[in-house]
Amino acid sequence: MIINMLPGASEEQIQHVMERIKECGFTPHIIRGAERTVIGAVGNSDRRSEVEALQAAPGVEAVVAIAHPFKLVSRQLRPGGTVVEVRGVRIGGGEPAVMAGPCSVESREQILETARAVRAAGAHILRGGAYKPRTSPYDFQGLGVEALEFLKQAREETGLPVVTEVMSTDDVDLVSEYADMLQVGARNMQNFPLLRCLAKAQRPILLKRGPSATIKEWLLAAEYLLAGGNPQVVLCERGIKTFETETRNTLDLAAIALAKELSHLPVIADPSHGTGRRSLIPAMSRAALAAGADGLMIEVHPCPERALSDGPQSLDLAGFAALMSTLDAGHRHLTVR
Ligand code: PEP
Ligand code: MN
Repeated sequence: MIINMLPGASEEQIQHVMERIKECGFTPHIIRGAERTVIGAVGNSDRRSEVEALQAAPGVEAVVAIAHPFKLVSRQLRPGGTVVEVRGVRIGGGEPAVMAGPCSVESREQILETARAVRAAGAHILRGGAYKPRTSPYDFQGLGVEALEFLKQAREETGLPVVTEVMSTDDVDLVSEYADMLQVGARNMQNFPLLRCLAKAQRPILLKRGPSATIKEWLLAAEYLLAGGNPQVVLCERGIKTFETETRNTLDLAAIALAKELSHLPVIADPSHGTGRRSLIPAMSRAALAAGADGLMIEVHPCPERALSDGPQSLDLAGFAALMSTLDAGHRHLTVR
């Protein structure tokens, strides 16, 4: 349930509602907007009717049901949308944020060269995998903590915030020391112990959609993070499994628009994993932004043919600069070429 307070409701009135929600066995989540305060009452209790009766409490404008199984991520709770800040870079509600970098961090030189180039081209956040969720155990698994060190050096040199994947609850503290944003990979979207642990992390989370996850499952995975105490969540559509084999995955553009409609969380798109094909990245980047995406994640490698992972879906440095030049200077509106 959502309790909409009247504009100008007093602190005392707000606190009274919070207390009553707790007494009835629900958890209150308060959202203080510029004009009015909204309080979400979530949880499992049979005392719903008592919360509904708060309709008559002083300072309350309305008590409304949340129509979806996901509650705290529902747009009903924050109609204006959420902005997630990653070391000063704002994701949501304004100019699209672009995260770029290699699939895997392979060496100091590789990540530094990429970081300088993507920064010069206008990227806002550096990506790079240190712990890699590879389909085959014989494939490159990532450099681990050594890669985290290289990412840190790249941030120190370029000033770009860093996003990198954390695969295990064992690594959350370590990766949080190095990274500005923690990525939950597609394969881990429903790793509930990991989500519970990340709900307590003091870092924003990039939650990728599972390859076979419905939009509802994706939003409920995000709900774990918010319900556990971490409101800084960005959703990432990275393609789903369909019958099509010409592309690695099927980038679900409608999911971007629908996730924006259903949830207040920012949504970005990953056309690299979404297609598996370098040639499709520019078109799918523009399409995702046209569908309402708040940003992009793009794999970029100085020499994709030598990449240890995901070379075919990585742009080279010039290709990335060319893509960035097709988004207008403020990245606000699209130049369709
Ligand atoms: C990645 O970002 O390199 C990655 C492994 O992504 P996903 O989890 O979407 O496959
Ligand atoms: Mn990759």
